[in-house]
Amino acid sequence: MSVLPDGEACREQTLGEIHAAALGQPCDGQVADYIPALASVDASRCGIAFATLEGEVHVAGDADMPFSIQSISKVFGLVLAMQRMGDDLWQRVGMEPSGQPFNSIVQLEWEHGIPRNPFINAGAILVADTLVSHFSSSRQAFLSFVRRLAGCERCDINEEVLASETRHGSRNAALAYLMKSFGNIEAEVEDVLAHYFFQCSLEMSCRELATSLLFLANRGVHPLSAERVTTPRDAHRINAILSTSGMYDQSGQFAFSVGLPAKSGVGGGIVAIVPGQGIISAWSPALNQHGNSTRALKMITELAGRLGLSIY
Ligand code: GLU
Repeated sequence: MSVLPDGEACREQTLGEIHAAALGQPCDGQVADYIPALASVDASRCGIAFATLEGEVHVAGDADMPFSIQSISKVFGLVLAMQRMGDDLWQRVGMEPSGQPFNSIVQLEWEHGIPRNPFINAGAILVADTLVSHFSSSRQAFLSFVRRLAGCERCDINEEVLASETRHGSRNAALAYLMKSFGNIEAEVEDVLAHYFFQCSLEMSCRELATSLLFLANRGVHPLSAERVTTPRDAHRINAILSTSGMYDQSGQFAFSVGLPAKSGVGGGIVAIVPGQGIISAWSPALNQHGNSTRALKMITELAGRLGLSIY
């Protein structure tokens, strides 16, 4: 059962109030500019969607505007890799918080090329390697998978962001070559990076993102298509790692104040899983010092607090 107050109008009103309150406060933070194509996004954009397991999607603001999902794509990549690799995946990537910035390289050297978890860049590049090795066209497989989950053929990558990521991807290349030197990357580094940049460049709206991830709130079954996307055990595992590592170096604080598995991206999007209920997806481009969207964080915190959504 959905926890939003009864009645369509009332549900939209709850999100509308939360959205208006976020817009009403000064917008702290800065749009990511280390990928130059992201710097040109309008910082005043702000949207939120709550997709429920019953198939309703409640929205406010710019919830239908596609944005760069960036690191949120790491969730889709991980699900595909877990489907293909099974438990072998966990020989090559860990499940511990890193306590380091998402693109840090130092820990990777100390730990012999085994990334701490699949949600830091090194971990997602490792996951990309497994996809490149297991699919004849990993990019096409990835895109088809996400489109099917979102029920949206329109979802696509942004070519300008892809070119910008590729041009400014030296640090990600360094992470990939370091892992290759430890024998933990099997495919050609160029192919692995091409897949990684491709998935980061995907654009989706809050509505599409929330809909696509519903299976994580439903023990692995997408409620709209009845497709079993993961086993209940893998849905549990993904949510567990999201809880400890999905919000960069603010994951502990997010668990403390919100209490939901969640993933953030430097495009300003955040998705939060509400087990047994649905998925919240919020977006606004300006980021705090941890790389999390200031307004998306405010909206999700407020919604989870008002509706008592914490899993703890
Ligand atoms: N494409 C970005 C990078 O590789 C993703 C970062 C993020 O959203 O956390 O740096």
